[in-house]
Amino acid sequence: MRGRAFFQLLGAFALVILVAVAIPGRYAAAGAAFGVAIILAAILARISTQRRQKIRHFADRIAAGDFSARIAEVSSDEIGEAAWALDRSAEKLQSSSAEIEHLEKARRDFIANVSHELRTPLTSIQGYTETLSDSNLSQMDREFLETIRRNAQRMSRLTEDLLLLARVESGEQNFSFVPVPATDLLHEAHASLRAMAEAKAVELSIEQVAPRMVMADREAVHQVFANLIDNALKYGHAGKRVEIGAREIEDGVEFYVRDFGQGIAREHLTRIFERFYRIDKARSRESGGTGLGLAIVKHIVLQHGGAVRAVGELGHGATFFFTLPMFVPSLPHS
Ligand code: ADP
Repeated sequence: MRGRAFFQLLGAFALVILVAVAIPGRYAAAGAAFGVAIILAAILARISTQRRQKIRHFADRIAAGDFSARIAEVSSDEIGEAAWALDRSAEKLQSSSAEIEHLEKARRDFIANVSHELRTPLTSIQGYTETLSDSNLSQMDREFLETIRRNAQRMSRLTEDLLLLARVESGEQNFSFVPVPATDLLHEAHASLRAMAEAKAVELSIEQVAPRMVMADREAVHQVFANLIDNALKYGHAGKRVEIGAREIEDGVEFYVRDFGQGIAREHLTRIFERFYRIDKARSRESGGTGLGLAIVKHIVLQHGGAVRAVGELGHGATFFFTLPMFVPSLPHS
């Protein structure tokens, strides 16, 4: 609005000059003044548009998380002052975000180091308990030993999951993304996890396929299916049926694992992918869960450029979705 008022004023000014000089005998001077005013107005309009575009571009970059964006205005008018203040805010955001990233990295490294250090003693404890259990022991000693073995095994699973999560979160885990038919990923999961379902008297079936190629790391996607199907069997086995499937979406494929068990109350759905978030802690521990399965799923999928979500209702089963990007063949250079 302010910009438009300025140009209206400029137009009026040009008209005044024109009238002032437009007395008989001075037509040429009037025409020249009018021309100069028009050119001046056009130049100023262009400069103003460019400044607005710079600010919009800056806002877009900040919104996308690029805090290194600056407007870098040199003029000292109102817009220049506002741009200077925005640049200072961006500077502060950039240094805070660098600090947060630094702390995040320190946290991840710490967890990875502790987990790594625990690996060897835990393997050793497990080894000794197994050796001891072969010897002649009283019933009570055998029970104690079994408790030690079970707990060492649980801690070992926990450290392995913590290490994997730290690697995936930090981007240190090497993925090899290749074009894969979405249907292959479903069949691979079905073939290798069906026996686990059958052991729990649950029927694992492929309900829907999507004939599309996706970019994926086969092993990692298998791990995603394994975690989701393992959960479906742990928490949804009462439904006796687990379905997996895939459907095409705009820029990829959405896969799902659906069970018909206890379901999930709505208030948990948004938090369920957080590490160590469990609805029923005792039940999760009892079934051998580490509380990290869904966090691992989320970060593997994020590294693929996909997204995760869960849908469910208490008593009506749960469905876990994850998306993978479509494979887009690059055009041969002409
Ligand atoms: P856990 O090792 O405890 O299974 P996860 O990260 O895999 O850890 O899952 C987190 C929590 O989400 C579980 O403890 C459980 O409460 C809930 N959950 C996961 N999958 C399901 C499901 N299919 N049905 C109901 N609850 C589920």
